[in-house]
Amino acid sequence: MGKIYDVIIIGGGPAGATAGLNLARRGLNVLLLEKKSMPRFKLCGGMITRKTIELAEEIHPGFYSQLEQEGIIENQCLTYLIKTENRNLHTARARHPFVLINREKYDFLWIKSAIQEGVQLKVEKAAKVDFSGCTVVTSSGNTYRGKFILAADGAGSRVRLELARKKVVSPPRSGYAALAVETFVPKVYGSFSDSPELILGLIKDGYAWSFPCSKVQAVGICSAKQKDGRLLKQRLLYLLKSYGVADKNQMKIQASLLPYGDYEPRPGYRNVLLVGDAAGLAEPLLGEGIYFAHASGNMAARAVLESKGIAHACVDLYAGYLGKIISSMRKRLLLRKLTLGLPPFLADKAFSFLLPLIALRLEEKIQGRHGDY
Ligand SMILES: Cc1cc2nc3c(=O)[nH]c(=O)nc-3n(C[C@H](O)[C@H](O)[C@H](O)COP(=O)(O)OP(=O)(O)OC[C@H]3O[C@@H](n4cnc5c(N)ncnc54)[C@H](O)[C@@H]3O)c2cc1C
Repeated sequence: MGKIYDVIIIGGGPAGATAGLNLARRGLNVLLLEKKSMPRFKLCGGMITRKTIELAEEIHPGFYSQLEQEGIIENQCLTYLIKTENRNLHTARARHPFVLINREKYDFLWIKSAIQEGVQLKVEKAAKVDFSGCTVVTSSGNTYRGKFILAADGAGSRVRLELARKKVVSPPRSGYAALAVETFVPKVYGSFSDSPELILGLIKDGYAWSFPCSKVQAVGICSAKQKDGRLLKQRLLYLLKSYGVADKNQMKIQASLLPYGDYEPRPGYRNVLLVGDAAGLAEPLLGEGIYFAHASGNMAARAVLESKGIAHACVDLYAGYLGKIISSMRKRLLLRKLTLGLPPFLADKAFSFLLPLIALRLEEKIQGRHGDY
């Protein structure tokens, strides 16, 4: 075992990379364990908001230009559409573009930046965490020891599951979490809009999306109520048919978990913190998770730095920094229950009535400002 790292991070998505970058930049000795070799595929719609760009610019001045220069931006959309199966509910010109990124390249950029700051990356899967000894055993049989462990191991977090067994956090995949299925269809296969679309009423406690990337259309659907992958796939195929996509054999449909309201208000125990999707920090109305992965990665790093090595102080600090995010997520979850949680025909009525009143405010909230949740 030998060396003791200041921090061991499990998972190299936006949450793990952001935490690692911040800690290494301040001189800490950071080991990041990622089970897949990077760049790796991650199922995602790839939409990032104004607050994400603001946060990223704060960490890397010039970030947006770098996204442009490295061909990571797939599309920048200034109009959007909210609709049901049968009619358009709201079309608008956005005040700020909705940016669609290539997720594989985006995550790779962050991991490269973390390495540049001094993070040591090992492509190994964390198989077991020993909370009392603060060690991680990997499936290749190596044992690593750290003063702190940050679990950024995504929506199905193994570490959260282990902590839930100790009854110190809630288990992942609670009733509020969603299953999402998505496919990337070559644009020429169907007749798609140039604007991102949000499709309501196709499924209870969820929604569908259709995002125009450069060559493909990202089309997906998620639901917290209906977690049967076959039914979601059926609804997705139905939606694709409405865009004129006929040949389902041409498409690879993939499924993944979306925490979507599955947040843990105090995501930590002793010197272990849960970050990003592992803490369930995807926004409960529309499932935006990239921003919250970066933001919680920042906060976890700050908590480690400010705790001066005292484990319980670190969890307290982290839970305190997350407080505003959790309270906003609580409100969004309630809004979801009152809208997307309704049976589809009632949801249609509720949205027809509500959208003209709240659309602008909703857009502002979704784009957000970094730090103002
Ligand atoms: C279908 C779908 C569409 C989405 N669309 C959007 C969108 O358009 N915009 C948006 O903002 N959010 C979107 N999200 C949510 C977003 O993808 C997540 O919130 C975000 O990826 C969370 O980042 P993370 O770093 O916490 O986790 P992840 O990005 O999942 O990274 C976790 C990493 O941990 C690694 N890992 C897991 N277990 C281990 C282990 N045992 N050992 C080592 N490594 C491990 C994984 O390989 C992975 O690289 C979407 C999610 C889904 C499912």
